[in-house]
Amino acid sequence: MTTSEHSPSPLWQKQHTSHNSTIDLSFTCIGGTAPTWIAGPCTIESQEQIMLSAKTLKSLGATLLRGGAFKPRTSPYTFQGHGEKALVWMQEAASRHSLNTISEVMSAEDIPLLSHYVDVLQVGARNMQNTHLLKALGKQHKPVLLKRGPCATYHEWLMAADYILHGGNTQVCLCERGIRTFESATRNTLDLAGVAYLKTITHLPILVDPSHGTGLRQLIAPMTHAALAAGADGTMIEVHPQPEQSVSDAEQAIHFSDYASIIDHYKKTICT
Ligand code: PEP
Ligand code: MN
Repeated sequence: MTTSEHSPSPLWQKQHTSHNSTIDLSFTCIGGTAPTWIAGPCTIESQEQIMLSAKTLKSLGATLLRGGAFKPRTSPYTFQGHGEKALVWMQEAASRHSLNTISEVMSAEDIPLLSHYVDVLQVGARNMQNTHLLKALGKQHKPVLLKRGPCATYHEWLMAADYILHGGNTQVCLCERGIRTFESATRNTLDLAGVAYLKTITHLPILVDPSHGTGLRQLIAPMTHAALAAGADGTMIEVHPQPEQSVSDAEQAIHFSDYASIIDHYKKTICT
């Protein structure tokens, strides 16, 4: 991996801190001793949906509620998200059930709006190299979850993180969400070797999103366990009250009961 053309010493490197970075939120710590369990629907569809999700997911052990309000959809003809209204619903649901929140910010101009409602700002895969957005996120103080671009190398992903770190915002975590390969049976190819590799060279926390990483609900449990075994600091999983009816990414959404089994299995495995 070459870094010297950009900086003799990029800020993502382990040598910049004596310990791994953590992101301290009111109800969870990303990069701490226990995995962070992020869960929620792909898209916030209604107040009832996000309220039920918050209540149930909290009871199952999730600490961070996810939900898209501004959706980066492949087709302009599909649902684009409920926007600010959805953020209001999610903030209310999360505060009622003592959860932190994360939602995607798609442009620098939207940062103040998103920051008003959510605890962590997500940069989606499609925007990983939107340097205008990354620079703006470096100049503000909300934590940022930076997803890996579908075709990004580790070096490109880490240097994208440096755009944020260089601006002064040290609250950055990475999220592996699968890359585009020649394989077409799964939506993407979840690169867990990348998680183990990056753990050896960066102090930044790394999460794994097996939902977009595979696109198939039957693969979420095994890939969650594999991600945690590979050293991931947590997972972000799409969970829906009625997955088959999800307005977006229905094939990868799991039931509350599946999520309960995943956390249960993890707890049993580490406690024995
Ligand atoms: C998402 O998490 O809602 C999302 C759109 O993911 P990605 O950017 O990884 O496609
Ligand atoms: Mn999705």
